Amino acid sequence: TLKGKRAIVTGSNSGIGLGVAEELAKAGAEVVINSFTDRDEDHALAAKIAADHGVSVRYIAADMSNGDACRALVEKAGGCDILVNNAGIQHVAAIEDFPVDKWNAIIAINLSSAFHTTAAALPGMKAAGWGRVINIASAHGLTASPFKSAYVAAKHGVVGLTKTVALEVAGKGITCNAICPGYVLTPLVEAQIPDTMKQYNMDRETVVRDVLLQRQPSKQFATTEQLGGTVVFLCSGAAEQITGTTISVDGGWTAL
Ligand code: NAD
Repeated sequence: TLKGKRAIVTGSNSGIGLGVAEELAKAGAEVVINSFTDRDEDHALAAKIAADHGVSVRYIAADMSNGDACRALVEKAGGCDILVNNAGIQHVAAIEDFPVDKWNAIIAINLSSAFHTTAAALPGMKAAGWGRVINIASAHGLTASPFKSAYVAAKHGVVGLTKTVALEVAGKGITCNAICPGYVLTPLVEAQIPDTMKQYNMDRETVVRDVLLQRQPSKQFATTEQLGGTVVFLCSGAAEQITGTTISVDGGWTAL
């Protein structure tokens, strides 16, 4: 059980982050969920997870494209025992046409945010003698696909950051690992289907089968619950000596 542990999950009012927040709450952790918006529905979502699992859940708005806001999120939460760096965006375009603002936003949200939140969270974890930093990277942290230059670069960066953090805290009761999902049918994946249809001149069904799940030998999407379960495992005693590595949850993608 994770009773008595506080978890922060960045980018968690949707998709994988939400699934991770729910599994952590189910395991008994106090959870802070986050996105850049500050709507009634964001706070209502926190209240619903709290009611469903009988734990404290707060929503704290912070824009993960802003380094100071990343650090402020950790401060406002009162520190954390478990940090899940999950916030991420995608943009699909050939490199010559890749908008510079999209490149900068993807590097900031998908990579630099984890640097800032980790820097802010580690002192508390060191003082407690226990901590878990879990970065949601991607199969694209280990392999590449065309038209995703910023995303692939950021996710490879996250894997490198993961290894470095693990070395800096080794032996202090703190581990740092990256989870590398294959395709999970979340709003992020939904949103890239139209652009991928254009790039490949294919209809939706063909993109799902021949482009998305083409790389995933299981021909099945991973679920947000499965990603949450992997996070809970990394928080367990069995995972105490798992650090500085990646766990693929990708239906065999990276075995190909
Ligand atoms: P999603 O779009 O459903 O969720 C992304 C979350 O990040 C949302 O809660 C969104 O509000 C939040 N977010 C976006 N910009 C933000 C910002 N500036 N500040 C704070 N929060 C912000 O997408 P998802 O598929 O659940 O993706 C979550 C993570 O998993 C991402 O890092 C993504 O790269 C990674 N991932 C997803 C898949 C997949 O197939 N869905 C595969 C591999 C990795």
